[in-house]
Amino acid sequence: MRKITVKYAGECHKCHATLEVGTEAMYEKTTGIFCIGCEPKDVEEIRQYRQARADRKADKYEQWAKKRRDKAHAVIEHNKPFTTDIAFCTQPGYLPFRERILKQERKAYQNIEIAKEFEDKASSLRHVRVKGDAERERQLQRDAIKAVLKPGMEVDTGLYGLGTVKRINKKTATVTKDGSKLVVDLSFIKIV
Ligand SMILES: [Zn+2]
Repeated sequence: MRKITVKYAGECHKCHATLEVGTEAMYEKTTGIFCIGCEPKDVEEIRQYRQARADRKADKYEQWAKKRRDKAHAVIEHNKPFTTDIAFCTQPGYLPFRERILKQERKAYQNIEIAKEFEDKASSLRHVRVKGDAERERQLQRDAIKAVLKPGMEVDTGLYGLGTVKRINKKTATVTKDGSKLVVDLSFIKIV
């Protein structure tokens, strides 16, 4: 989060005080704007603001997606009497009306594709990350393997291949392989 000079009047996302143009505020694109001192510092609080912001944005994408899809399906439904009429579809020659129908159909299917992209975008937006998430996830992996790991076990160390557990440390395990000792992060280890 960084200190900025307010360019457009708005309000603090925490206390809702008005932020006048020209005053200083704390800002981060993914989290929002706050008066100085109101900005969230704790990662879980930051996550909440990011999540709320991401959800609002994602809702918008989903609304756009729905509108496009509904419209596309309405067109496809409306054209069905023609598009399911084999005689109409296969009659040789250039029929301006048929061309128009086909053009509408192509456009409708394109819109369905765009709707899908919007929905993908929305679901990736909702997946909010904060500082430390990767390390927390890695620690969960370490804890899981630590709960079952015992000296003497055959393990796959990933990078160095198979080895035997000699000792289990806080975040790593000492593994012996061909007489040499290796220190491997617990999150890389798989029991074989
Ligand atoms: Zn505030």
